[in-house]
Amino acid sequence: MPVSLDPTNPFATPSTLPYRLPDFAAIREEHYLPAFEAGMAEQRAEFEQVLTDPAEPDEENTLLALERTGRLLDRVSSAFWNVVGSDSTPGLEAIEEQIAPRLSEHYDLLYLDRRLFDRLEALDARAGAGEVDLPDDAAHLLEHLRRDLVRAGAALPTEKQEQVTRINARIAALEATFSRTLLAESNDSAVLVTDPAELAGLADAERAAAREAAADRGMDGWLLELSLFSTQPQLVTLANREVRRRLHQASLARGSRGGEHDTRATLLELVRLRAERARLLGYEHHAAYVAEDGTAKTAAAVHAMLAPLAPAAAANARLEAVDLQRALQADEPDATLEGWDWPRYAERVRNERYALDDAALRPYLELERVVHEGVFRAAHELYGLDFTERTDLVGYHPQVRVFEVSDEHGHPVGLFLGDYYTRASKQGGAWMNSLVDQSRLFDELPVVVNNLNIPKPPDGEPTLLTWDFVITLFHEFGHALHGLLSDVRLPSQSGTDVPRDVVEFPSQVNEMWAWEPEILRHYAVHHVTGEPMPAELVDTLRASRRFNEGFATTEYLGAALLDQAWHRLAPEDVPDDVAAVEPFERSALAAVGIDVPAVAPRYRSAYFKHVFGGGYAAAYYSYLWSEVLDADTVEWFAENGGLRRDNGERFRSALLSRGGSADMMDLFRGLRGRDPEVGPLLARRGLSPVSV
Ligand SMILES: [Zn+2]
Repeated sequence: MPVSLDPTNPFATPSTLPYRLPDFAAIREEHYLPAFEAGMAEQRAEFEQVLTDPAEPDEENTLLALERTGRLLDRVSSAFWNVVGSDSTPGLEAIEEQIAPRLSEHYDLLYLDRRLFDRLEALDARAGAGEVDLPDDAAHLLEHLRRDLVRAGAALPTEKQEQVTRINARIAALEATFSRTLLAESNDSAVLVTDPAELAGLADAERAAAREAAADRGMDGWLLELSLFSTQPQLVTLANREVRRRLHQASLARGSRGGEHDTRATLLELVRLRAERARLLGYEHHAAYVAEDGTAKTAAAVHAMLAPLAPAAAANARLEAVDLQRALQADEPDATLEGWDWPRYAERVRNERYALDDAALRPYLELERVVHEGVFRAAHELYGLDFTERTDLVGYHPQVRVFEVSDEHGHPVGLFLGDYYTRASKQGGAWMNSLVDQSRLFDELPVVVNNLNIPKPPDGEPTLLTWDFVITLFHEFGHALHGLLSDVRLPSQSGTDVPRDVVEFPSQVNEMWAWEPEILRHYAVHHVTGEPMPAELVDTLRASRRFNEGFATTEYLGAALLDQAWHRLAPEDVPDDVAAVEPFERSALAAVGIDVPAVAPRYRSAYFKHVFGGGYAAAYYSYLWSEVLDADTVEWFAENGGLRRDNGERFRSALLSRGGSADMMDLFRGLRGRDPEVGPLLARRGLSPVSV
């Protein structure tokens, strides 16, 4: 029987607050661990019941029964992971460290159980023979579960299963090694400057940070620390070309310098093991294994989408380089444009051409107004949603705002929590979380959270945003809408539970409404005078959108194509010698026509943490894959009259409401009437197609 949980623990029973909002006022740190333990025990017992049910498998006793397991674990998990990201404490971090490996063990135990695989196979056979009738969502779930189990190795003979398990453990260890080594290498590669004259151009805050970074390590001078990207942000402001060169070369050399922090042997072993595992599981290579789990389905489809973009992007980057070369020569008559010059001269050309700076825009972009008159207004115009702040409901931190969402008939839709400000206890970046997943099975409405990291102004002062934050607000709210408008039966198919290569699609689409004149004129209003943003400022903003996109697309594609190239190798083709890494990169990029010397891939292999530290191996293409669907959908809206309630309704019913209950590509085709095309993306990024 399940471990019993103290009935006073707030996770012991479903929340009685509206929409089952977790009772954050009652939840304390000590409640999490016992709830996790009881939740895992409860789910194991529930699985056991499903797997030992003597009745022939059917929808109710297998698929729905599985969906009903783990309710307590879901309650504690969703509250916990949200708070760990948004308002962490050393105590919560200690719980995370303890619970993360136990959770992964828990799910392995449940899903690598041979009896589960056999039961699902039996159900599939019965469905095939017409003995049971599965509705579409249940059939989709069955297919998904079976594929997940096969992909995990559940269908293999025991000996091969053990091999997969051994490879998995080794891969996990190597990914951790890669991340750890890379962190040490990046710290080691920071550039020390001892002559303050060499820091010319650096903003006061950057200079102070460099001073502090040096002092922290007991060094005298200024330490320029490296971010993960190839192209370091300080290259925009550093005026001294020699310092820029040192910084850029230090960045590109990370992980390939020999010595104890060299990552190349680790990455080669990872590539080989991933290829071996793919072969054991019956796939041609790791890229094929990963693509199958997304909407791309095959590595060939990924390649067919990425490869034609590469020459178009590179051609544009070469054109951009001509302008930058001219700007560089005004400072350094004999210099040839290099990677360490690009950001600085791109910024200069941008300023000359568009004279656009944040200081001019910010008075027109006040947070409260952008949220209500921008983000919420667009959702009202498109989907008929209304938002009412519920000050009687509390979030997990005093800065969290709670809004009740209703439809145009006044029917409840869900809760939206907005947590906008940065604070020491919050992770960097911006994201959406779900606290309660919508499902008809449990008759539950969604509760979703948006997190941003906007610096909080002193009390009493308005929060004035940069344009990037405005786009981020609309982007994250696109994820929130995916959760809020979900209308599915099965909780595991709710809202944003979709393949990784399309999860960014609805959020990217929602960014379009930030640019919509009918929305912009309501939210972009001077916070003191009430004047709308001047038309010339709006025009400049719009015109600057495509600037430097040749560079941005080339560096992104460089990284995405390197990721694919490594993971399309057969195990026996993976080189042993670390000296082979660089030539491999060069030929992989040249093969697709990426040959702009001053544009490095966004990450080179030896510091490609997304791919060799875990997470995005063979999946870095996902961002652009989503954007192809996004740009094509933006065009669909434009063809149909743009911001209109009936267009919103079509998008909602065809796509947003369906979550993961069907294949997203099928849903897209249902809306668009055809397969996605790359033309709209090329046009948006200002790239002209190149015939090859
Ligand atoms: Zn996103």
